[in-house]
Amino acid sequence: MAVSDLINLSGLLDDAKCFALVRQHRWPEGARCPVCDSGAVIRDGHDDTQPCRQRYRCKACAGRFDDLTGTVLAGHHQPLRVWVLCLYFMGLNLSNQQIAGELGLDGSDVQTMTEQLRRGLVAKAPEVTLKGEVEVDEVYVVAGHKGQPAAVAKRGGSDGVASWQARRAEARWRRTSHRSSA
Ligand SMILES: [Zn+2]
Repeated sequence: MAVSDLINLSGLLDDAKCFALVRQHRWPEGARCPVCDSGAVIRDGHDDTQPCRQRYRCKACAGRFDDLTGTVLAGHHQPLRVWVLCLYFMGLNLSNQQIAGELGLDGSDVQTMTEQLRRGLVAKAPEVTLKGEVEVDEVYVVAGHKGQPAAVAKRGGSDGVASWQARRAEARWRRTSHRSSA
C-alpha cells in the first residue's frame, strides 16, 4: 500500500500559507502590478472560490490582478497546495512517476506541471505585444473563419499554448504584410 493511500498530504497543507509562499516568491518587496509594474497597488478582496487568493487593484493603470495572475499556477485545475507539494517533491529529486503516485495524479499531468515549474514559479507565457494594428487582426480572423473554422474555434479556447501560437502566427503575418507593403 502506497503512503499516499494512508495520508493525503496535500489535505494537511494550509492554503493561506501556500498563497503566502507564492507572494513571498514573486513579490519579496510587496505586490506589484503585472501589467505596468507599479508598486502602487491596493488589496481588493479575495477570489470568490479561493478565499486565501488575494485580489489587487493597480492605482496607476487601474488593472486588476491576484496572487496567481501571470504565473504558471494560474488557470489550472489543481489546487495551489498540490503545486506546492509538487515543487517540494521536485526538490527531493523524485521522478514524475513517483510524484504522480504521491499526489494521486496522472503521470502526464505531473509531467506538464514539473515542466512548467522548471521554467520558474512566476514565469510568464511568452506574449506578442499587439498594438496599433487591430484592423489587420480582424482580417486575419475573418480569413481564418472562411478557410479553417475548426482551427479558429480551437484558437478561441482557453488553451494558452494554442492562443500563443495564434498570436505568434498573427505577428508573423503582420511582419510579412509590412514587408510587402513597404
Ligand atoms: Zn498597473
